[in-house]
Amino acid sequence: MIPFLDLKTINAQYRESLVEACTRVIDSGWYIAGNELAQFEKEFAAYCGAKHCIGVANGLDALILTLRAWKVLGKLKDGDEVIVPANTYIASILAITENRLKPVLVEPNEASFNLSPSNVEAAITSRTRVILPVHLYGQIANMPAIMAIAAQNNLLVLEDSAQAHGASLNGQKVGGWGHASGFSFYPGKNLGALGDGGAVTTNDDELADTLLALRNYGSHEKYKNIYQGVNSRLDEMQAAMLRVKLRHLEREIDERRSVADQYLHGITNSQVILPHVETNHVWHLFVVKVKRRADFQNHLLQKGIQTLVHYPIPPHKQEAFHDWPSMSFPVTEQIHEQVVSLPMGPNMSHEDVQKIIDAINTF
Ligand SMILES: *Cc1c(COP(=O)(O)O)cnc(C)c1O
Repeated sequence: MIPFLDLKTINAQYRESLVEACTRVIDSGWYIAGNELAQFEKEFAAYCGAKHCIGVANGLDALILTLRAWKVLGKLKDGDEVIVPANTYIASILAITENRLKPVLVEPNEASFNLSPSNVEAAITSRTRVILPVHLYGQIANMPAIMAIAAQNNLLVLEDSAQAHGASLNGQKVGGWGHASGFSFYPGKNLGALGDGGAVTTNDDELADTLLALRNYGSHEKYKNIYQGVNSRLDEMQAAMLRVKLRHLEREIDERRSVADQYLHGITNSQVILPHVETNHVWHLFVVKVKRRADFQNHLLQKGIQTLVHYPIPPHKQEAFHDWPSMSFPVTEQIHEQVVSLPMGPNMSHEDVQKIIDAINTF
């Protein structure tokens, strides 16, 4: 079986360094908010080309706490509108609703799967305060256009960079484009911990300072709580694992790019619509569209190839949002009916990728 993602083999490459990092943490006697976190935050901020990085417990918290910080700072209030792509993973939207803000869903660009600047402009009202672009599947959204729209309309921009560590446009990586950016280090992400983790990057000193307190019970100083914060920490063990993995991220991205190139050149079946590459894609997922999706997935499964769907149900059709008025997003709905994610990872062999291509071309 060719698995969708072979995390065990990927992490096994770094076993020695990971064990060494683990041992360093165990022997330090310091497990929360210590040197590993401080170093990782410095290293990841530098990697993204951002001034600050604030580690938190997971990617959802990175988004939730950034919007919460803007509320605390008086930049947002209950009911303010946040523009978000309708085809995103539900976490982007939960971060908005969790803060009692209003998600305004817009159709994506059908080819890139990313936020369409003209649809963003059309969705702006007098209550709009934030644009939340999602760099879906590892391709950066059209940030120059989105930042220009934000500047014209005095809006904040929060990037959801959970799938796109290292993706860049015009020499600037994700995490350095918006007023803030949320990252996930869930194990299967391009930069994955060996457990949960997340971070916010920003160039804004005041926002960074507020986030430092919010993640720690609303406190800068022990037992002095200035906000109603939460406990959302990136622990020393995960920070140490991430420091090891970060050193290999660029090489892993290159390896993903060569798998993607092989797919892009090798797949010739006209029933399979290949992803549209506009920028420096980091290939978190290699997503194709196929009309007869179930048959296609079955065909590959019979040849020993595992595929997944990201995602089968769009957020506006989820039970969690049953109290929303009924909405229609034809582009989004068609994406959710037709997308299939092919196996993708930094450690795939040329032979396995060729096997997948051959199986696809005989469908
Ligand atoms: C994974 C993901 C998140 C959430 O990250 P967690 O670490 O799982 O909380 C948010 N947004 C997108 C687009 C994601 O893919």
